Amino acid sequence: MRVLLVEDDPLIADGVVEALRRSGFVADRVAGGRAACAALQAEAPDILVLDLGLPDMDGMEVLRFAKQHAAATQVLVLTARDGIEAKVRGLDQGADDYLTKPFARAELLARLRVLERRISSAPSATIDVGPLQLDTRRPDATLDGRPLSLSRREYMLLKALVENAGTIQTREVLEQRLYGWGEEVASNALEVHVHHLRKKLPEGFIRTLRGIGYMVPRA
Ligand code: CA
Repeated sequence: MRVLLVEDDPLIADGVVEALRRSGFVADRVAGGRAACAALQAEAPDILVLDLGLPDMDGMEVLRFAKQHAAATQVLVLTARDGIEAKVRGLDQGADDYLTKPFARAELLARLRVLERRISSAPSATIDVGPLQLDTRRPDATLDGRPLSLSRREYMLLKALVENAGTIQTREVLEQRLYGWGEEVASNALEVHVHHLRKKLPEGFIRTLRGIGYMVPRA
């Protein structure tokens, strides 16, 4: 699950991002509305955690933008204690949940798990490449009809490759899909995940393009 946090308060943001990453989410953070819209357009996260009080844009505008450009993204709105009106407007505009500041991180994580379950119970959409069938909405895949046991990052990597079967995926693109911005990534982390994935897949399923990246050929 990829979460984008839009929060201008660095103290809140750092704590939340750290808690999300510890809980297995891929978390990115931006500090303003414009950056949020750019990020939503570049790659829609699974969940958007949106502070409504932003320095450069009305958070409500960001919410409308998200609903237009990233319709599948679940939105959790953060409002100030006295922001009842904002809360109601947020829900009217299509927010999926809200949390009043200040909030406990455990409470935020609990709410995100509810949204995660909601996303996972949406009708499945699968991609077939040869013997592999991958569910794009939940971390499930089968090989020749048998369940494939994948770690969260192996699943995300495989998903990125099969969604773009027949196209080379550069290291940079794959690392972006696997890790949040600014997250410490060992230089060989991607290779390690590819190595583990390959042991679970037929020979030649993932091709290496030396110095460039990886590709799953179209079946
Ligand atoms: Ca704020």
